[in-house]
Amino acid sequence: MDRTRRIVELLSRLPGVGEKTAQRYLLFLLTADEAVARELGAELVTLRDFLKPCERCGNIAEVPDDPTGPILCPVCTDNKRDPSLLCVVARVSDLMAIERAGSMRGRYFVLGKLLSPLEGVGPEQLPLPKLMSRIRDDGVREVIVATPPSVDGEATALLLKRELSAMNVEGGVSVTRIASGVPHGGDLEFADPITMSRALAGRQRL
Ligand SMILES: [Zn+2]
Repeated sequence: MDRTRRIVELLSRLPGVGEKTAQRYLLFLLTADEAVARELGAELVTLRDFLKPCERCGNIAEVPDDPTGPILCPVCTDNKRDPSLLCVVARVSDLMAIERAGSMRGRYFVLGKLLSPLEGVGPEQLPLPKLMSRIRDDGVREVIVATPPSVDGEATALLLKRELSAMNVEGGVSVTRIASGVPHGGDLEFADPITMSRALAGRQRL
């Protein structure tokens, strides 16, 4: 495969990028300031070595200079966050959408997947033990379930409600769900910051 076709093929594997956009990117990288292509290339080469999932929440985190140190994201190390408020999301892109809205003062837990009986994802495949030890260790008092408003997202919210309500922690844990406003079947990722802030503020007890 010639180089032009190879690069267009690689770029078009990115989400939302078709062949036409990939060709535009290639032309841009060839004609814009040369440093753009060189710096982007250098970052991509080492991307997977320096960015890993946060050990505590699953967000993207930088590997520390001391390789034996813990891999923690900026939200987990931000000591202005309220550790008693924990927002559970399905994916890192949902966490990023909520962070863009800027109204979340607690921390996060990324499930990585949703309960999906149709696709054979059962409760045992969700990281519930890790979530529960996080709740215990951090003294979490409120869990905001921010799974998407889809069939699987709602099923996951109900499962979390059942499992977390049964937890034996001092003072108990209240489980809330983000309000609608995020369209049903829609992606949190595409909610605008105002809708997202309202959905968080209007959360209700599950
Ligand atoms: Zn984290």
